[in-house]
Amino acid sequence: MNIHEYQAHALFEKFGVPSPKGYPAASVADFDAALAKLPDGPVVVKSQIHAGGRGKGTFTDGFKGGVKVCKTKAEAREMATKMLGNTLVTLQTGAAGRKVQTIYFTPACDIKKEYYLSILLDRASSRPVIVVSTEGGMSIEDVAHNTPEKIIKVLVDPAIGLADYQVRQLIFALGFNPAEAKNATKLIKALYTMFWETDASMVEINPLITTKDDQVMALDAKVGFDDNALFRHSEIVALRDLNEEDSKEIEASKYGLSYIALDGNIACLVNGAGLAMSTMDIIKHFGGTPANFLDVGGGASKDQVVAAFKIILGDPNVKGILVNIFGGIMDCNVIASGVVEAVKEVGLELPLVVRLEGNNVEAGKTTLNSSGLKLVSGDTMADAAQKIVKLVSAA
Ligand code: GDP
Ligand code: MG
Repeated sequence: MNIHEYQAHALFEKFGVPSPKGYPAASVADFDAALAKLPDGPVVVKSQIHAGGRGKGTFTDGFKGGVKVCKTKAEAREMATKMLGNTLVTLQTGAAGRKVQTIYFTPACDIKKEYYLSILLDRASSRPVIVVSTEGGMSIEDVAHNTPEKIIKVLVDPAIGLADYQVRQLIFALGFNPAEAKNATKLIKALYTMFWETDASMVEINPLITTKDDQVMALDAKVGFDDNALFRHSEIVALRDLNEEDSKEIEASKYGLSYIALDGNIACLVNGAGLAMSTMDIIKHFGGTPANFLDVGGGASKDQVVAAFKIILGDPNVKGILVNIFGGIMDCNVIASGVVEAVKEVGLELPLVVRLEGNNVEAGKTTLNSSGLKLVSGDTMADAAQKIVKLVSAA
């Protein structure tokens, strides 16, 4: 789960990570109240979307820049009015972009230098990794690509925590003067505590800045959390912004289904993540493209199957459906009954190929065959995949 920058700044404040004290506003009517709370002087206007690259982004109406440094509050108000409700396209949003529903106003900082700092989970070593660079700002991806030696990484042993010598390694790598080093030490330690205690999966600060009076501050903030740990952080769950999530994925999460929307046209309904992956592979292998990853789990109920089927049918890109079930724990007849019930409720115009194998498969096949549903059965995975690809390309 990701949160907005203004929410991340509030968390930073709680953990003692210095960041500009800003105010969000979700409607034009609230702009003046938010701006009034800021000191006089330059203001930064920041579009709040769950994607980076906003500064270099362009709105779909041609307006450039999702982050603007403005000389006055009047100018900030004008820029914010252009951004709110507008759709921002950045390198991270995809071509469709994201609608800006909240604006964040912060006092503009006088930047001496921009750095990069992030903490992530390094899956290869199963440890948190702190990544820093002196080349912070808006093109860290280019730095990583062209001059990888300018990216410094420190792995943290989770049992020991962040050690002082490691903080010094980071500080030396960034070349701070003594006053900056003292402030940066506090910031890095506080940030690591936040990362650890909130079960974050990523905290990215780009830029981390120094000011003329040697303060060190987190300007930007991109923060995400491990979904599997959210049950112990109700205060973080409360920050969830459903506007930023795919509506089908929200619906799926209500039913405990693992669903990820993709851009193909063959929907898959599968039990088990491994089978779901190989089903997507085999669709690709025979020349089709999957419309989603959907794992109903090892022991899905009929209600879950109905919900899954409805989610699939709610995607206008879907031109055919492949149900691929291996009943280990799963009872094939539960899947079959769910499919029949869902189709009765929402109708089905699209080609449907079903491959069932395993626990109680005969009862499942009988349920499907006696339902009057127009479906094609597949004997093996390869057979089923070839059939659905053929049906979809013929349609
Ligand atoms: P991003 O483009 O989504 O990464 O958004 P950022 O919050 O990083 O802002 C983009 C850029 O705007 C930063 O890299 C800075 O160069 C600039 N910027 C943001 N806040 C300030 C500020 O307070 N003062 C100044 N001078 N520049 C800022
Ligand atoms: Mg940034």
